[in-house]
Amino acid sequence: MIVFGPVPSRRLGRSLGINNIPFKHCPYNCVYCQLGETRYQHLKAADYYSPNQIFQSVQEKLQRLLEKNEKIDYLTFVADGEPTLDKNLGETIDLLRDLKIKIAVITNGTLLRNERIRNSLSNCDLVSLKIDSGSPAVWKQVNQPVDELNWEEFIFGLKAFAKNFTGQIITESMLVKGLNDSEENIELIAQFIGELRVTTAFISAPIRPPVKNWVTLPEEKVFLNAYQIYTRNDKIPKVELLINYEGNDFTIGEKVEEDFLAIISVHPMREDAVRDFLRKAHLNWEFIDDLLANEKIKRLSYQSYQYFMRKNVNREE
Ligand code: SF4
Repeated sequence: MIVFGPVPSRRLGRSLGINNIPFKHCPYNCVYCQLGETRYQHLKAADYYSPNQIFQSVQEKLQRLLEKNEKIDYLTFVADGEPTLDKNLGETIDLLRDLKIKIAVITNGTLLRNERIRNSLSNCDLVSLKIDSGSPAVWKQVNQPVDELNWEEFIFGLKAFAKNFTGQIITESMLVKGLNDSEENIELIAQFIGELRVTTAFISAPIRPPVKNWVTLPEEKVFLNAYQIYTRNDKIPKVELLINYEGNDFTIGEKVEEDFLAIISVHPMREDAVRDFLRKAHLNWEFIDDLLANEKIKRLSYQSYQYFMRKNVNREE
């Protein structure tokens, strides 16, 4: 399913997700990824869905939401992998402009060394860049980039993009205990973010089940210290901590199963959110038992919560 949600997002309000690539193409294999191991790790943009197909899916979904008076803040490209691997992204964004809703792309920035990809984002309102490390050694440990990608080119791409992009740039840095949460690394990240003309820098934590089961959150004092380090940098106008659960404000349409599976394939859902979702859909827990029995979804425990996600992912159990 190409369009999912809307889902609640601290960064973007109520966001209608656009999953513009098939599972899971990404130049990274981040240790905290909530989607599972990267199945196709590469840097080559390709044709997946046509711009028209995406436009129509979004338009139909919006129509249904409009009938229910549902408000959308952003159309957000947030894929089962890296959205800039879609060769037609620029053309699709241009088409979606007609819908008069702000457009965001959440990217790891690995393809921005390529001018064509930088230009393809020029027509969106907001780009969120993932920056988890300030040095190549930590980058390799946290994001495990594909071999052909080198640090200098990656940094060049982000800077070149920030120089010319006229929309809003935000960053997100996910801190993992013992990996990229040292003061030294956080100082380097803040310094680099300061060069990117950002409006807000978010510091986040792996609050949903990560692909590597040894990944854990740093202690609270690490986040508070990171917050201090970022705010000391006068080139970062606003800093926000994203270390709490984002809420349960998920929306259901008529196709309940399809909608539920589309959301949890990109966005593993906590048990309380699932219960809330079922209540809104006038369903009981048998709905979940059936999906579990048919191996369409799986249950995971993380940080003393139960989560539900789609079964098509490979992860360490
Ligand atoms: S977290 Fe994002 S960038 Fe990292 S592996 Fe998963 S999809 Fe790719």
